[in-house]
Amino acid sequence: MEQKKCLLCDKPFRGRSDKKFCDDYCRNAYNNSRKMINSNEVRKVNNVLAKNRKILESLSCELSSKYFKIKKESLVDMGYVFKYQTQQKKYKSGISIQFCYDYYYFELNNGWVVMAKTMD
Ligand SMILES: [Zn+2]
Repeated sequence: MEQKKCLLCDKPFRGRSDKKFCDDYCRNAYNNSRKMINSNEVRKVNNVLAKNRKILESLSCELSSKYFKIKKESLVDMGYVFKYQTQQKKYKSGISIQFCYDYYYFELNNGWVVMAKTMD
């Protein structure tokens, strides 16, 4: 038994070395609040990705070609958030391709973005 401090309320308690909380109430409260933070974060990112995909879909519907080029700032204006991707692939050539579900894109140096839909 060693002297420990509760992770939630800071109250000192004695217990096994793997014990982190003074009682069940603190343990449950701590775990519930963490679960909530995690799911809020997941929901937020999912919403951003879904919106990103909607933007790409609306753009690709307007165009008949497989690839399309768009100014990065136009995408930002439309609400596209570049911070989140579903996948990223780096190639030896230095090009890194970002994925948003079934769409992917890479940035050109001059502020343009080339986008395409993956073939299924
Ligand atoms: Zn406690």
